[in-house]
Amino acid sequence: MSCVKTDGVQVEKNSAGLDINTPEIMQPRGFAMPPKELRNGGRVKANDVVPKGVYLPNNNIQTPNMTSPEYVQLSTAAALTLGLMPGGMYNCSCTRCLNILLTYPEGCRANCAYCGLARHREADRDYADRNFIRVDWPSVPMKQVAEIVAKQIKEDGETPFHRMCISMITHPKSDADTRTVLKTWTDHVSPDDVAISILSNPTTMNREDLVVLKDMGTDIFTVAIDAATPDVFDRTRGKGVQSPHTFKKYWDTILEAKDIYGDQKFGAHIIVGMGETEYEMLSLVQKLVDLGGHSHLFAFYPEQGSLMDHLPSTPRDQWRRVQLGRYLIDYSGVRVEHMKFDELGRVKDFGLPKAELEMIIETGLAFRTSGCPGKFAEDISACDRPYGDSPVSDIASYPFKPEGAHMRKIRQQLDMEKPGESYEQGEEFDEL
Ligand code: SF4
Repeated sequence: MSCVKTDGVQVEKNSAGLDINTPEIMQPRGFAMPPKELRNGGRVKANDVVPKGVYLPNNNIQTPNMTSPEYVQLSTAAALTLGLMPGGMYNCSCTRCLNILLTYPEGCRANCAYCGLARHREADRDYADRNFIRVDWPSVPMKQVAEIVAKQIKEDGETPFHRMCISMITHPKSDADTRTVLKTWTDHVSPDDVAISILSNPTTMNREDLVVLKDMGTDIFTVAIDAATPDVFDRTRGKGVQSPHTFKKYWDTILEAKDIYGDQKFGAHIIVGMGETEYEMLSLVQKLVDLGGHSHLFAFYPEQGSLMDHLPSTPRDQWRRVQLGRYLIDYSGVRVEHMKFDELGRVKDFGLPKAELEMIIETGLAFRTSGCPGKFAEDISACDRPYGDSPVSDIASYPFKPEGAHMRKIRQQLDMEKPGESYEQGEEFDEL
């Protein structure tokens, strides 16, 4: 990306030479149907290798035949924190959220264009070997996961995890299996020790499913609506890519979650930079706040192997403005109507006096990963998803408190540098 300035707004051009990810360039590529024998997990089922404990993704060996509810997949960060795989992460010793993903040889039956788990990858890669939000997801027996955390609490009086979240996928068994996985968890770990979130797949769910999950101990129910407008939704995860989802069903489920879970106990995941404007994105954030919920934002990243892997990630100036705008709406009482936007829908004024805005920027909270809260504060997410939407070299969502050079970099991206405190390329790594 290169930086230019237009009309007082710092603008980064993406690799298409544009300063925003417009609908015209954010078009998914085409795909071919996999051969019949490779569909629905054909290779894994035909070879039927018996799983033995933890499976670390490896596309060079035959993937075992693993399925929920007995097996689940964990984010790399969760597997590292549990001690199930070796390694470390830049500037984070662990994650505070145990992200669990249902798993099946057939995988997710949807085909969302930005997602590494999408159905079109069946010929290329077995489900348990696919990358998702930039990382591998090891497969682990669910009982083993619950036993490790229960042991941590019993022996140490605490666990690194502030929250456990089950991510559903689109599969005929996912509603029933989510309940079984949740039961395995609560048989070992009390919701009083580790709060529970569900990242739902509304397409296969009904109202009763939401009620049952709440009765089983779920604290926060979120909907991965991902796309900020019906147009972006249809193009990236609806009929445009032969995927079964509709914006209406997702929005209706958010309204049901409001009724069933109540204020501050529901929310939506949204990806920034798939063709919507900053005004459209922040209007959706406002709508969720007005309902009593929260938004959890991700920067678009061209996931390898997805139908959008050829497209530019969200320009950082666009991303920072949306991150800051979202924080102000969610936690500082600012409304989208107080903000000013230019003709391309970019934020030109955040609707707060400069001194107040400066104080909020300086805390760095707006630029951290957004998600369900943990035990620190309402505006510090347990779900820190280390490097799930960017590489370490160009961090979008900060899984740690940004300070020093990281803050100077953020300020440069916002075109709000402090006098005499400019950012030099790569200087954050000199501070290690
Ligand atoms: S439903 Fe979720 S997991 Fe499945 S392809 Fe879409 S985004 Fe990926």
